[in-house]
Amino acid sequence: TLVGGNRVNDIVRDLKTFARSNEERQGQVNVHAVLDLCANIARSELRHRARLVKDYGTIPLVLANESRLGQVFLNLIVNAAQAIPEGSDVKTNEVRITTTQDAQGWAVVAVKDSGVGIPPENLARLFDPFFTTKPAGVGTGLGLSICHGIIVALGGRITVESEPGKGSTFRVFLPPAGGGA
Ligand code: ADP
Ligand code: MG
Repeated sequence: TLVGGNRVNDIVRDLKTFARSNEERQGQVNVHAVLDLCANIARSELRHRARLVKDYGTIPLVLANESRLGQVFLNLIVNAAQAIPEGSDVKTNEVRITTTQDAQGWAVVAVKDSGVGIPPENLARLFDPFFTTKPAGVGTGLGLSICHGIIVALGGRITVESEPGKGSTFRVFLPPAGGGA
């Protein structure tokens, strides 16, 4: 059986991979492996709206709980997909995941979309619990507040930049597992 181009068995396998690491265990995590898993899970949300482009650089392992980190990236990717209006041309839209290492040796994950963007007056409230601009039943407004909580608990930070009408970029900064340069 296919759901949005994913085989159901594959989806179930990916979800089980998450569930297995669902304990509070922290370990050295390969961010690219987690991103790949999230990209697979989000594929059905994405496929009618945008191309997904992965642009991976060399980044350090990070100390995290794999499942929680996956929750963060999945939230960001689904938000990116939902920012692209349904019915817009798939070929002209892109969700791009870029990984880089910053000058401090931290891993940086950027999720960039070509969606509607965020009005400046909403930027300050974006990470507040229950802040949503989506219709009831679509958005709970909890995604970004949970993302923020998880990333701050890991000693990292999350930022957003947006140009209304052009798109948005969310960046997650994560300290390296080794303690950094
Ligand atoms: P939800 O997705 O349930 O609305 P979130 O906490 O994930 O809750 O996001 C809160 C709000 O932030 C969204 O309703 C939307 O207005 C805005 N937002 C988040 N990500 C994006 C994005 N990539 N592009 C445009 N707006 C966004
Ligand atoms: Mg969301």
